[in-house]
Amino acid sequence: MSTDAALLLEAADFAARKHRQQRRKDPEETPYINHPIGVARILTHEAGVTDITVLQAALLHDTVEDTNTTLEEVEEHFGPEVRRIVDEVTDNKALPKLERKRLQVENAAHSSRGAKLVKLADKLYNLRDLNRCTPKGWSEQRVQEYFEWAAQVVKGLQGTSPQMEGALQKLFLERGLSM
Ligand code: NDP
Ligand code: ZN
Repeated sequence: MSTDAALLLEAADFAARKHRQQRRKDPEETPYINHPIGVARILTHEAGVTDITVLQAALLHDTVEDTNTTLEEVEEHFGPEVRRIVDEVTDNKALPKLERKRLQVENAAHSSRGAKLVKLADKLYNLRDLNRCTPKGWSEQRVQEYFEWAAQVVKGLQGTSPQMEGALQKLFLERGLSM
């Protein structure tokens, strides 16, 4: 087997074990791991990304934010480059939710290229998920507000991937938004 395949499976297995108790917010409570795998797949199949470091970071992107995983642990298993990208896409959970959302908008443009790629794929996956079905307890207005916030974040990520930005632009236009 190629080294690249082994590196990807190592990250997929690590993320699957870390997220094993978690579910997505859709009514079917889809296993959480579907999301990071789908984000990595957007990068390979829609954005033409082949950089294994970026793909590993995509598979691991929510482990530090949403599980007991530490950045040190990520570095120990996957090295400093993957750690750096995961760090860049991890919100500071010590801050209030609205502040975290504001910081995502503010920080987008200052991210590294690898982090921008993961952020674009993450937003694209989540917006498609919201169009597929509304999470439990969410009003149509809350969904619309999520699209509005995502458009603000994506504005700062522009010039990174024409394919993903084109797909996002289309989703925003369908909701009367521009990025
Ligand atoms: P949240 O931040 O609470 O939820 C969105 C996040 O959930 C996504 O970024 C995604 O993150 C994850 N997620 C899990 N399952 C799904 C799915 N099926 N589809 C899409 N995303 C999914 O949402 P908001 O941004 O709306 O809320 C921000 C704050 O505002 C919260 O404090 C909330 O309680 C509050 N609030 C807002 C309301 C409104 O009308 N806007 C109403 C009530 C409360 P990841 O990629 O990390 O998994
Ligand atoms: Zn995510």
